[in-house]
Amino acid sequence: MKVFKFGGASVKDAANIKNMAAIVKAYSTEPLLVVVSAMGKTTNLLEKLAKAYYDGEETVYKELFSQLKNQHRVVIEDLFEDKRHAVFSDFENLMEELQDSLQEPSSENFDYEYDQIVSYGELLSSKIVAAYLNYIGLASSWMDARRLVRTNNVYREGTVDWDATLSKIQRKVMVNYADEKWKIVVTQGFIGGTSEGLTTTLGREGSDFSAAIFAFSLNAESVTIWKDVEGLLNADPKQFANTVKLDKISYQEAIELAYYGASIIHPKTLKPLQNKNIPLYVKSFVHPSAEGSIIGSFAKNTKVPCYICKQSQVLISIMPKDFSFIAEENLSTIFALVAHFGVKINLMQNSAISFSICVDDKYNMPDLIEELQTEFFVKYNTDMELYTIRHYDKNSIAEITRKGEVLLEQKNRSTVQYVIRKTEQ
Ligand code: ASP
Ligand code: MG
Repeated sequence: MKVFKFGGASVKDAANIKNMAAIVKAYSTEPLLVVVSAMGKTTNLLEKLAKAYYDGEETVYKELFSQLKNQHRVVIEDLFEDKRHAVFSDFENLMEELQDSLQEPSSENFDYEYDQIVSYGELLSSKIVAAYLNYIGLASSWMDARRLVRTNNVYREGTVDWDATLSKIQRKVMVNYADEKWKIVVTQGFIGGTSEGLTTTLGREGSDFSAAIFAFSLNAESVTIWKDVEGLLNADPKQFANTVKLDKISYQEAIELAYYGASIIHPKTLKPLQNKNIPLYVKSFVHPSAEGSIIGSFAKNTKVPCYICKQSQVLISIMPKDFSFIAEENLSTIFALVAHFGVKINLMQNSAISFSICVDDKYNMPDLIEELQTEFFVKYNTDMELYTIRHYDKNSIAEITRKGEVLLEQKNRSTVQYVIRKTEQ
């Protein structure tokens, strides 16, 4: 069997849902499990709704609630001519359920409330998609990922309990494919549930990971992520002109790219697939017959230079006040502070008396710097850009270094990184 994941853009309106259904139809001669994200930018809307509810801003969340309802209703009305179709009442029921929970006072735990609310994006889209597939004659059953993907109760970043998840998916989903009468299974990405039956989410963009969880548990033959781009590109087309498609990438290389911040695939997606040697296809839902990219166990890798840019970086240089060398002792003080403030180091480098780190700018950056200043001399530059080039060559280096002043460079055989102060153009 195959696992397909359709992201928000591929189900953002009726026309796109019809398009994704046509793709599913083309592959429906063999067993399929379809994982869907929330439609379009629904998750962003729900995030705002959850925040307003938590803050007790009733007019704001009520307005967002009706936006959510209208957006989905328009799509359903477009898709289903028969206005007595059961999808209309299923939709009303889900909306009522959400409305009822919004009438209860919020708990103190924002992350918990967030998951209970934001999960409706995927519940709605998957209900609509499953109903539509049936409507056009593709027998499908809707399954609730909250009862299949078991996580701990760390809300907004649930950790998967693999044993429980594996046995649930095998018991409840595998049977569906056991005989000739199998149906397409439609389920949600991004969401899971605790042992008490409470809803959790796996972190933003977590639907790719959900697809990998299902594929791993079902020993799927492959996973396909349907996107609005031609496949995996060597750079983010929003940041770079002239991107090229990478045809074949090893798991290892894809993990490296994700590590440096390429927003290709949710980073947790790759490990379960690599463990079972399940290939991951990335294909365009606009040109479904085009080749796309494949991530798998390939010995040889593409040597096309790949570019990753992280913006809003802070470069911090730290020097012991007594001019002692940078050594284990002061490094552990620095790391403890950085960890304490939950700051993520993207690059580090040391010289005899100075240690430099490049980190994402966070609201608590001034506090971190102040704490560091009690023991060290600290210099820092904000609004830096961190560029990473995998498989660099002369041209790719020239292209990046002309973007501004290079404040720090780090190079190994396959990768070079630059912290750059952008010159105004
Ligand atoms: N809907 C979720 C998000 O927008 C999960 C996903 O799309 O992967 O983050
Ligand atoms: Mg996505």
